Amino acid sequence: MTPTEVIRAHRWSEGVRCPHCHANQITKQARDEHQRARQRYRCLECQQKFDDLTGTVFAGHHQSLRVNMPRCKKSGQAWSTALL
Ligand SMILES: [Zn+2]
Repeated sequence: MTPTEVIRAHRWSEGVRCPHCHANQITKQARDEHQRARQRYRCLECQQKFDDLTGTVFAGHHQSLRVNMPRCKKSGQAWSTALL
């Protein structure tokens, strides 16, 4: 299992749910172009797109991450890429 598979299995243990409205009417989209392990989804309820890491610290734009790491966009990206 890759780290992303572990995160996915843990996060979606009861099935994929929208992080925005918590609906379970989800359609799969293409995978992330740069991080192939990240599966993208689209919510059929609110039409928001998200992926396996959206809303987790691994997404790289978490608020506390931004506070702790001034250049979080770059370092967060490097961090999540290293994890994958
Ligand atoms: Zn939704």
